[in-house]
Amino acid sequence: MDIAELKASVIARVEAQRQQLRNLSLKIHSNPELGFKEVKAAAWLTQYLEKNGFSVERSICELETAFRGSYGKGKPAIALVAEYDALPKLGHACGHNLIAGGSVGAAVAAKAAIDRFGGSLQVIGTPAEELYGGKVIMVERGAFDSLDAAMMVHPGSHNAAVTPALACIALEVEFFGRAAHAAGHPEAGINALEAMLLSFAAINSLRQHIKDKARIHGIITDGGDAANIVPDHSAGNFLVRAEDDAYLDELKERALDCFVGGATATGARLEYRWGETRYAPMRNNLTLARLFRQNMQSLGRQMPLSDPDRSFGSTDMGNVSQVVPGIHPGVAIVSPGVGNHSPEFALAAASEAGIGGMLDAAKAMAMTIVDLVAIPETMTRVKREFGKKNG
Ligand SMILES: [Zn+2]
Repeated sequence: MDIAELKASVIARVEAQRQQLRNLSLKIHSNPELGFKEVKAAAWLTQYLEKNGFSVERSICELETAFRGSYGKGKPAIALVAEYDALPKLGHACGHNLIAGGSVGAAVAAKAAIDRFGGSLQVIGTPAEELYGGKVIMVERGAFDSLDAAMMVHPGSHNAAVTPALACIALEVEFFGRAAHAAGHPEAGINALEAMLLSFAAINSLRQHIKDKARIHGIITDGGDAANIVPDHSAGNFLVRAEDDAYLDELKERALDCFVGGATATGARLEYRWGETRYAPMRNNLTLARLFRQNMQSLGRQMPLSDPDRSFGSTDMGNVSQVVPGIHPGVAIVSPGVGNHSPEFALAAASEAGIGGMLDAAKAMAMTIVDLVAIPETMTRVKREFGKKNG
């Protein structure tokens, strides 16, 4: 069987699963579970893999809803990454039900390539992308060691093989002041809310002088108890993001200075905590991205390598891409203008366009696995690019 025939065969194997993948992704969609609580989704996905000949390890990396399904032996070892967590209130408004369906569908189809050429496949189930960065923990605990490539496809409003994603870290701040009657004895008070407001103003001023694509944004979670009491406590959550790790380190210092300034001006005491989970920027493997793009285009879906209009946030797949050659392409399931994390997107994640995007993603990933196992030189190019610094 030559490569073209093998690709036709993996496409047919995705088609053969159409109904099951549709049911699986819709079942996850109608049972949204938050990060680290994806008990049903993890059970359904691992059952599906087992039924299709994968051996499954559950609760890997000491995370209850993480898993690994394996098929085949040895090198190359290629991972398909599955996400399946939902968002508070909005449900599957990021379409992770489609990511899960696409990755297991690709894995089951790509068994044909492993049977023919050797190597191994893993489906790595990664919980809590949205709230806790589950992959950051799993990378630290070695889940992605000794792999040769990793991929997943995220639904969105643009088709693009390359995903920009920013380095990101959370910052929690609190100010402690002194309560007093706001009218009777304002001079006795130290206003923790004013410290927070000054900090916001300082961040707004800073923002116009930071590098393109860097972001600082946040909310106030405590602004006092009553209008007639000088607030003795205020609190807020912020995210600081930058295109690369070095600039994120610099921006962290400058963002923190804004809060120090608020404390100095008001006399309130500042306490802060940087988040334990730091998202790394996405390091897109262009060799892999080009293969994926070619395969997607052969299915009739136009896909630029990268789309300048594509919005960018941060993803824990960035951390994976730092330790193994990886891609995180986007597949369009809605028209540009409908953003992820909106009620409209939640509907799209259960629509025919959503299912179509998931099946195309599964096919193109399975075809890319054919490229990687059938031609050892291809795998070598992927690894060579990864070996080069900033590749
Ligand atoms: Zn997402």
